[in-house]
Amino acid sequence: MNKIVFASSNEHKVSEVRKILGTSFEVLSLRDIGCTEDIPETQDTIEGNAKQKAEYVSKKYGLDCFADDTGLEIDALEGRPGIYSARYGGLERSAEKNMAKVLLELKGNLNRTARFKTVVAFSIKGEMQCFTGITKGTILESPKGSGGFGYDPIFQPEGYSDSFGILDEAIKNNISSRARAVEQFVNYLNALPVK
Ligand code: IMP
Repeated sequence: MNKIVFASSNEHKVSEVRKILGTSFEVLSLRDIGCTEDIPETQDTIEGNAKQKAEYVSKKYGLDCFADDTGLEIDALEGRPGIYSARYGGLERSAEKNMAKVLLELKGNLNRTARFKTVVAFSIKGEMQCFTGITKGTILESPKGSGGFGYDPIFQPEGYSDSFGILDEAIKNNISSRARAVEQFVNYLNALPVK
């Protein structure tokens, strides 16, 4: 069975991808390969950061590796928070502070369109493949619900009348930008000639 590394320290994400891939690939976490250092993430795009993480681990450990990176892009804020999504409201990475900053910056603004973008970058045999998932939506006037994480309480996906903080987890798992990027990646893996 082919071994691939998921350059993520989030064991929840790793186990989710393991479940989707079943037995055709062995997905190793950073912990599994003994990688404990901070992986550089210094690029100025979501795609650049996903590629940088995948390439760093695959070069250092000699294994095929994928990484994901997600950001919330708000049109009225010229695409911010984007690559700063995790720490928009401060270095402590508080979801409440991140949302509060976004809401303050959008106060009184009627243009509230936004999208979550996720890029999965896969470094395979020295080459890079990228898969992008997008979920369009709008930023609400105030947080609604407490489900999900990050910006979920203030993000209402297109075609729904509630935030990701209220909508059923199963709906989010189906339409989230991460689910969409991971789905394309998994289709790619399953179509590879040799597994
Ligand atoms: P990461 O690249 O998955 O670590 O995501 C970066 C940041 O984007 C997170 O810290 C969250 O603030 C935000 N984010 C990522 N995915 C989601 C999501 O599904 N819902 C809400 N916020 C998210």
